[in-house]
Amino acid sequence: MRPLTAHIRLNHLRDNFSTLKQLHGGGPMLAVVKANAYGHGAVRCAEALADLTDGYAVACIEEAIELRETGITLPIVMLEGVFEASEYALVDKYQLWPVVGNHWQLEALLAYDWSQPVTVWLKMDSGMHRTGFFPHDYAPAYEALAQSPKVASVVKMTHFACADEPMKTMTAEQIAAFDLACTDLPGDISFANSAAMMAYPQTMRGWGRAGLAMYGVSPMGGADSRFKPVMKLTSKVFGERVLQPGEPIGYGASFVTEQSTRVGLVAGGYADGYPRRAATGTPLAIEGARSRVLGRVSMDMMTVQLADHQQGIGSAVELWGDVVNVNEVAAAAGTIAYELLCNVKRAKVVYE
Ligand SMILES: *Cc1c(COP(=O)(O)O)cnc(C)c1O
Repeated sequence: MRPLTAHIRLNHLRDNFSTLKQLHGGGPMLAVVKANAYGHGAVRCAEALADLTDGYAVACIEEAIELRETGITLPIVMLEGVFEASEYALVDKYQLWPVVGNHWQLEALLAYDWSQPVTVWLKMDSGMHRTGFFPHDYAPAYEALAQSPKVASVVKMTHFACADEPMKTMTAEQIAAFDLACTDLPGDISFANSAAMMAYPQTMRGWGRAGLAMYGVSPMGGADSRFKPVMKLTSKVFGERVLQPGEPIGYGASFVTEQSTRVGLVAGGYADGYPRRAATGTPLAIEGARSRVLGRVSMDMMTVQLADHQQGIGSAVELWGDVVNVNEVAAAAGTIAYELLCNVKRAKVVYE
């Protein structure tokens, strides 16, 4: 069997969630399990958090129904809301909490014939300019919902563009814009993602929305000892050779040995979600010791530096996890850990 394996440590997920809940001051918290729980498996992660969390957040109706069909009864927020008005029938049937981020979603929701009052998360565009009502349009949208007998309650929400960059002033400006526009609007709020919970004590109110840090990865980059990586992506060396100085390795012959080099062949490539842009030097660990990628990553395999004769065929490789933080691999590949985790596929998944 191909040895590439994603180990998902559900006890780490639970510990990280509890840590975030403490950071957030004990307020209610959603576990964000969109995109198959950032590549960790939505159903298994949601079930593992069922006794800790106050609800879940997913992107869309398909992801919400997947959770409901496995018997999950806690609140589920649909972060993108609906894509067509007809989806509100399923929102009603499965008792979901849709985000409303624009006028057509609002009008379609108010036009729908609900079987029971619906809880709505009303999104404000406090500066990110992706979705949500502008602050000056927000109160009318809120009132339209709050006054409708079809609506059980309205949670006011917004999202930060730069919470992972605490040196920037934008998050403080977004909080101020949000608070000003909500001055006379009662009810719950929600704005803190992982980065905000970590860096902005002002956001420790309302519903937290815990994503990346819950998976044990810091949104600030680097490692953060408060969080335990949930995914460990491992494989094995299944080929080895010694190359003399001056020999190329792999596609494009982009890397050429400078000295006699022991090279290992590892099962894992860009078709598994490992980034092709990870160039020579990208860190990984062999038998627990840090080493590096040599040459270009192929579709199904990659070549790596072996340290000595102890390392060779059968040696355990950690592509990321405990020794090598996924943030390091992301930095080497010019991307972010979110993308690498979401992209993992074809690997065997083992829950531990
Ligand atoms: C994905 C998402 C989150 C979680 O963000 P993290 O940075 O992973 O904590 C929170 N809120 C919204 C609206 C999101 O789309």
